[in-house]
Amino acid sequence: NMHTVNKTSSYFIELEEKYGAHNYHPLPVVLEKGKGVFVWDVEGKKYYDFLSAYSAVNQGHSHPKIVDALVNQAQKLSLTSRAFYNANLGEYEKKITELFGFDKVLPMNSGAEAVETAVKLARKWSYEVKGIPQNAAKIVVCENNFHGRTTTIVSFSNDPDANNNYGPFTPGFIKIPYNNLKALEETLANDSENIAAFLVEPIQGEAGVYVPDEGFLKSASELCKKYNVLFIADEVQTGIARTGKLFACHHENVQPDILILGKALSGGMYPVSAVLANDEIMNVIHPGQHGSTFGGNPIACAVAVAALDVVEEEKLSERAEELGQIFRNEIQKLIEKTDLITGVRGKGLLNAILINDTPESKTAWNLCLALRDNGLLAKPTHGNIIRLAPPLVITEEEILDCVAIIEKTVLEFKRN
Ligand code: PLP
Repeated sequence: NMHTVNKTSSYFIELEEKYGAHNYHPLPVVLEKGKGVFVWDVEGKKYYDFLSAYSAVNQGHSHPKIVDALVNQAQKLSLTSRAFYNANLGEYEKKITELFGFDKVLPMNSGAEAVETAVKLARKWSYEVKGIPQNAAKIVVCENNFHGRTTTIVSFSNDPDANNNYGPFTPGFIKIPYNNLKALEETLANDSENIAAFLVEPIQGEAGVYVPDEGFLKSASELCKKYNVLFIADEVQTGIARTGKLFACHHENVQPDILILGKALSGGMYPVSAVLANDEIMNVIHPGQHGSTFGGNPIACAVAVAALDVVEEEKLSERAEELGQIFRNEIQKLIEKTDLITGVRGKGLLNAILINDTPESKTAWNLCLALRDNGLLAKPTHGNIIRLAPPLVITEEEILDCVAIIEKTVLEFKRN
């Protein structure tokens, strides 16, 4: 049987096709190794990774410091559950709360779990501190949000792929347009006694890297204060230096009431997420009222401490800010030479190019296949937008090399 003799890309793709649920549509490339900004496929071809696992691998693939933390801790103690104390959690909690400027952290694993945690925390605070009548609490969210895949989270999505036939849905959410202060103010003014929180992505990543107007986050957070509503920032994708600051709210000197982190909190080494808040909010949760078997486990803590050390030691925020400027400038020059790309937008190293075709067209997908052939991996979102988000450890020389690959690919590209 040739399939068991030659373990080629098509062998692995066929296995997934046959034995895996079809809940993703991957670009056809099968990866088996990563180092820094590079990944290698099973045929040995090398690529620049321009997705970084949706911004989870900000510190680069297999960062030696994070690998060491993982391996050493795995050999010592992996999991205790929170039935007992462990010798890693406290120091991790001290580090993350001091770094991000909060009294306390609640450790979880996936991004979606952390969003769920924030929703529960905000609701509980609203009943016990704000005094909203039982079961009346509402949370304001934005159109085209992406906060994860749980039943409650898809309840407030307006993407039909995300929620079609998954009902009945969790009530208690109000949707307003993104980047719209007037809608926020009207909604809060209308029903502030029953509104617990405003949940927002500082940049809408999955929606296609939508950057709100300057001042939106600042004004939104002030409106929340005015109406005694919690400002919750979902920085699962924008946090951990990706946009050129430790977290994106820092661009406008906003300290959210609740901060949600995930993805690059572990450098992509392990599922680690976190919800941060000050005591008056976090202290509404008492023993037995929320938890997770794996949340705050010793490996997660050791890995996250190392991953945060790397962000500081290698000045990843500053790098993202500087290289992001260079990248957008270079892409802007390319836009003048082609009608295939109509725009570039983003902050730091979270950017997207807009492809001059409909969301239904295959143009962006085919361009990603051509980029792959030329050694750079990226993936379309919503059909005609391509997110470009390399690991933040990329050098200026490498980013210019990537611009050259993108330019060559775009200028040689033939539409079908
Ligand atoms: N929130 C945001 C802003 C995200 O971008 C994502 C994932 O892309 C999530 C939450 C969900 O994270 P996870 O896939 O780890 O559950």
